[in-house]
Amino acid sequence: MTFSVHGLPVARGIAIGRAVLMASSRVDVAHYFIEPGQAATEIERVRTGRNAVVDEIHRLQHTISTMGPKEAPHELAALLDVHLMLLQDEELINGVKHWITDRLYNAEWALTTQLEVLSRQFDDMEDDYLRGRKADLEQVAERILRYMKGVTSPTTPPNVGRRKTQQDLLLDDSMDVPLVMIAHDLSPADMLQFKQSVFAGFVTDVGGRNSHTAIVARSMDIPAVVGARSASQLVRQDDWVIVDGDAGLMIVDPSPIILAEYGFKQRQGELERGRLSRLRHTPAVTLDGQKVELLANIELPEDAPAAVKAGAVGVGLFRSEFLFMGRRGQMPDEEEQYNAYRRAVEGMEGLPMTIRTVDVGADKPLDDSVRDEAHLNPALGLRAIRWSLADPAMFLTQLRAILRAAGHGPVNMLIPMLAHASEIRQTVSLIDFARAELDNRGVAYGPIKLGAMIEIPAAALTLKIFLKYFDFLSIGTNDLIQYTLAIDRSDESVAHLYDPLHPAVLRLVAETIAECNAQGKGVSVCGEMAGDTSLTRLLLGLGLRSFSMHPAQILAVKQEVLRADTSRLVAWAMQVVEAEDPAQAMLAV
Ligand code: PEP
Ligand code: MG
Repeated sequence: MTFSVHGLPVARGIAIGRAVLMASSRVDVAHYFIEPGQAATEIERVRTGRNAVVDEIHRLQHTISTMGPKEAPHELAALLDVHLMLLQDEELINGVKHWITDRLYNAEWALTTQLEVLSRQFDDMEDDYLRGRKADLEQVAERILRYMKGVTSPTTPPNVGRRKTQQDLLLDDSMDVPLVMIAHDLSPADMLQFKQSVFAGFVTDVGGRNSHTAIVARSMDIPAVVGARSASQLVRQDDWVIVDGDAGLMIVDPSPIILAEYGFKQRQGELERGRLSRLRHTPAVTLDGQKVELLANIELPEDAPAAVKAGAVGVGLFRSEFLFMGRRGQMPDEEEQYNAYRRAVEGMEGLPMTIRTVDVGADKPLDDSVRDEAHLNPALGLRAIRWSLADPAMFLTQLRAILRAAGHGPVNMLIPMLAHASEIRQTVSLIDFARAELDNRGVAYGPIKLGAMIEIPAAALTLKIFLKYFDFLSIGTNDLIQYTLAIDRSDESVAHLYDPLHPAVLRLVAETIAECNAQGKGVSVCGEMAGDTSLTRLLLGLGLRSFSMHPAQILAVKQEVLRADTSRLVAWAMQVVEAEDPAQAMLAV
């Protein structure tokens, strides 16, 4: 039966494929693809795990048989019998074998996937007692997972979410079908792991349009929908689904007519992309001769060459925090960071690279398993520059690494989330200190331009202080909107209030651009507004000449730039900013 689930559109395009449900487990589970030759070993790992848990239960049964009914009630023995029965259920093991052999999932992923399949069968049972056994099944699966976690895998996960090679596809026909990842939640780090993945689309139950998970999905240029509430409950493993990333919609079990319609839309999208690719070498200049700088936002050093290829004239935002995530508290040292930044700089072939100092916290936890639940408002807590200043040794390590990388090409250093003059002064003196440390060690480093992000209303309202210390400013509209409107950017329940066109937001953006232009300082927008083609003309009218966005958006924004006449946009843009309903005022051009 065809049905649809609505969410928030995140990354454009249409994906059609089979659902891969990322089961949420209380045990932290790695997800990666194995080589076909490793299937037998992975199956053996699950079998060994299962046998170990069976032995453990046998031992327990023996122990309780020696106890009286007071210490070991009858129910306990019955429960252990149920666990044993579930562990020996062929459907569990056969299902796991299927996911390993046919889909090449690693052992843990295969087990949690089969657990999900069986759990759904229990949910559908009429009998209350049998339905209640789902909890037992989850318990035994978790015991196996915990056992497997204690036993190191002979298969290191080198090819996490890697794209299948043609040879893999030939080995197994079923791999030819595009796969769509459906999960309750995916952290930004999870998402990044899937960057070079087989997945043709993503859907999550939670998340806002500008949550970091959504941003990473957009940077992958793969159709995605977030905030789809109960999607992961409604879809079953292997269901056919369509992800409409433009409309924020997922269609489950589509009829042939719907499939044909979306297949057509998919081809239209590909044609449009082909058409836009012709603009790659066209300079971004408006009809009235204004040069516009189109820069890329990247998450990993390896993204730099792709940014150049997409037509970017530099990187306006390298989110360095992704180097720090998922390392179980082990921070990258100076050498590792220097090498990563150097690779990013060299990947730009002489074009400027803007490295933002680490911005973790709130919806970007260092580790998935260590979400900040201790603080009521993590977005208002110790994140970004506050986190860096709280740990000067860690911050100095990063500063030295960036300064050293600046010896290999043009580098801008960008500081996130500043609000106070005291934070600015501390940051500037730590940068001086990092230089002095390198001088003392006799280590070479290069010049940098220093920039600040304008992400907090307090910063936008005290621009004069910022312009005294910084060479350029970059407006982080994602956070500026969040903090101006008091709307959590990753909470789908208030997503309808997250409004880039709110008059207060537009005023702060307009004044920042105007003040920088008046003082001859560089200013760019690096939040998601910069890559939104419906806002390009407005930002141009407000005087913006530097936009930083996902590489996938660059050509579409360039097309808008080429069609714009800024001399005719200035008065209109001011009217939009001053209107009670800017979205409405934008229509009157
Ligand atoms: C922003 O806040 O607009 C921004 C670019 O930073 P991030 O999205 O990484 O918080
Ligand atoms: Mg930000």
